Amino acid sequence: MKISIITPVYNEEENLDVFYERIKETFKTLSKTLTQPIEEEIIFIDDGSTDLSFQKIKGLAKIDKNIKGISLSKNHGSHTAISAGLSKATGDATIIIAADLQDPPELIVEFVKKWREGAQIVWGKRAKYEKSLLRACVNKIFYTLVKNLAIKTYPSTGTGSFCLIDRKIYQNLNRHLEHNRVTFGLIAYQGYKQDYVEYDRFKRERGSSGWDISKLIKAGLDTFLSFSYFPVRFMSIIGIITFAISTLGIIYTLWIWLAVGVKVPGWTTIIILMCIFNGLQFLMLGILGEYLWRVSDEVKCRPLYFIQDVTEENLN
Ligand code: UDP
Ligand code: MG
Repeated sequence: MKISIITPVYNEEENLDVFYERIKETFKTLSKTLTQPIEEEIIFIDDGSTDLSFQKIKGLAKIDKNIKGISLSKNHGSHTAISAGLSKATGDATIIIAADLQDPPELIVEFVKKWREGAQIVWGKRAKYEKSLLRACVNKIFYTLVKNLAIKTYPSTGTGSFCLIDRKIYQNLNRHLEHNRVTFGLIAYQGYKQDYVEYDRFKRERGSSGWDISKLIKAGLDTFLSFSYFPVRFMSIIGIITFAISTLGIIYTLWIWLAVGVKVPGWTTIIILMCIFNGLQFLMLGILGEYLWRVSDEVKCRPLYFIQDVTEENLN
């Protein structure tokens, strides 16, 4: 049995040594709990770090033949980095885990246990969310909307970014070529048997989060736009409603003109209607623009990422 660890790395030089030690310890524990021998593979994908992360990875690869390192030419985003790692994985299952130790590697033992019991996807479910109450509420609303409007098989507590996936699933994932990819959405979307392991997520001890608000908004929008027809359907429904209102308005205006005659110019009404309909038109154009941008990204068929350096030749 072989387990692959997939870890995207963006400016994590201070975390890598401790991360590696904890992963090694976890594999020792894991092999004690299993009757059959276990092989490991740790794939680090350096996502265009500006610190010494990749030098660290190269150093680790020298002392441990199970370590593989890929350095991307620039910062592609952690989801693309994870895809790069998954395309090189060879395990019976892979564990996707961040390098910052917010998600405890020791939990991998539990993940593997659930997988061996039959789950093909095991999510790390965050029991206590360490961010603000506001963030927790936004997350809750977001997950409910995603589950109801986009991905029916999405876990109701969200996916998080710490999970185990069976070989079948990551091989399917490797066939997805889309650029604006929401990796964890694509995993849930496949519809395989899911389970979860609950845990408390730790605060980041070293380094800083690579996710800013604009990346979060983009990922949120991508989830809806690539898995749901709701935005387009919403536009159609608004279009039908405004068309109906406009038709009634035209009939009413004609009737007033013919039956009563026009006395008051109705400046306020015109301005309000103009504001409403202009606003709606721009909203619709915005939604169309979001689709157009993504469609144009996809038709170019550019490669998903560019590799700068590797720790062994066959990773190129
Ligand atoms: N990461 C990455 N590229 C990025 C941002 C982050 O590869 O552009 C990596 C990062 O090094 C970490 C994982 O993805 O191993 C999760 O990132 P982070 O801790 O910043 O996310 P958060 O915990 O805030 O969701
Ligand atoms: Mg983190």
